[in-house]
Amino acid sequence: MEDATDDTSGLKFKVLVLGDWAVGKTSLVRHFVEKKFYEDYLPTLGVNILVKDFPMEFRGEEVTVTFALWDVAGQEVFRPLLPTYHKSASGIYFVADLTRLQSFESLELWHRDVYRTLDHPVPTILLANKCDLDYWVDESFLAESAEQIGAFSYFKTSANTGENVAEAFEAMATRILEEME
Ligand code: GDP
Ligand code: MG
Repeated sequence: MEDATDDTSGLKFKVLVLGDWAVGKTSLVRHFVEKKFYEDYLPTLGVNILVKDFPMEFRGEEVTVTFALWDVAGQEVFRPLLPTYHKSASGIYFVADLTRLQSFESLELWHRDVYRTLDHPVPTILLANKCDLDYWVDESFLAESAEQIGAFSYFKTSANTGENVAEAFEAMATRILEEME
């Protein structure tokens, strides 16, 4: 029997947003989901889920994908819950702060943690956030950081100006759709 919540015609992607505290995860997600129709904030469980319909073009066709963005808090106290959150993810954004080198170094730990739960690689993008501020890291550092966490691409983003935010979401949706073919 079919489950009423199991809408097979829809393209629904659960995408994790992971990274150190204060790198801008919540700000990026909020910027993207400017017109939110569902927001479920669960501070006590350390996760904020925002859902957004995203109309885009794929192989010359108009498609609308639905992102469920899991903005997962990094606090130690929530660690036991993380495997539950990581389960059945279609994609991952690892977020770092261009002004804090340490936030890039942490991504390897986030990466290792996620793949304790996920048994196969999923499309991954590195978001090097706060590009509106002064920073010193260069393209080769970013490319290397992306490679280390298995990201197929990286974007320098700003949740303040919105630079590259929509682009990063379109790139993720495109990649997930390509892998579904
Ligand atoms: P989270 O802990 O990763 O969810 O980070 P938040 O989204 O709460 O952001 C942490 C702080 O960084 C806040 O003060 C934000 O206003 C600021 N912030 C987030 N993104 C940007 C950005 O792109 N540029 C600048 N200048 N500040 C940002
Ligand atoms: Mg946050």
